Amino acid sequence: MPKLFDTHCHFIDFDIDTITSLTSLLSNIELLSVSKSPSDWSPNIDLCSHYQNIYPALGVHPWYVHDLNSFENDLMRLDELVNSEHIRILGEIGLDFAAEYLLTRSIQERYFAAQVELSVRKGLSLSIHCRKAFDAVLSELKGNNIERAVMHGFSGSHEQAKPFVDMGYKLGIGSQILNLQSTKYEKLVKYAPLDSLVLETDAPYVKVGADMSLVQRLQAISERIAAIKMVSLEEVVSTTYNSARLILGLNYHDVE
Ligand SMILES: [Zn+2]
Repeated sequence: MPKLFDTHCHFIDFDIDTITSLTSLLSNIELLSVSKSPSDWSPNIDLCSHYQNIYPALGVHPWYVHDLNSFENDLMRLDELVNSEHIRILGEIGLDFAAEYLLTRSIQERYFAAQVELSVRKGLSLSIHCRKAFDAVLSELKGNNIERAVMHGFSGSHEQAKPFVDMGYKLGIGSQILNLQSTKYEKLVKYAPLDSLVLETDAPYVKVGADMSLVQRLQAISERIAAIKMVSLEEVVSTTYNSARLILGLNYHDVE
């Protein structure tokens, strides 16, 4: 069985039991451990440094942009950490225009634009949070000729996914696909090409399937994708694994 790649989890927010049980499984899985805010950055780098197959992503999530006073300092620190810690990807960053976050819209836009600009200067990939902001995110990515991005927990329709897929961006498919009541995610998976999909748990935050271990969840998501697309489980696991490594540029710079 090829390896599973969780392209979006918050490793530093796991409880110690999960971290301990994961350690024994690291020959079977790889993880991208995203950050939410600057206070996550150093703990995330520290924790990931103990594991060969866990990669830290640094960034400011659109829900955590409140403090414009620290904006310039945050960016300078991010710039430095990217160099000193050999960071490959920024995340999670993005835009959230759902009603409860509209108040910070202009601050979100500043943070997002600055982080995208940083990724261009440093040649970094992006892990993107996007809610009710598909046009704004797409135009920012396209306008900066971004080549490698994951649309984490993609929540749009398959029609909304198309321009992202056409740009070569990957769609993060999470535990929501395990909810058999919802046909939206099923349609998305059905119509998107298999090589545009990657796996994610968004653990420990997404509650669907929370009673499963991380590996069980990744496996269940893969099985569901295989059933919807009528391909083998092995094909789903190996294709999503390769796509995740491609986004991280791991096929170009061998770190094993
Ligand atoms: Zn997340």
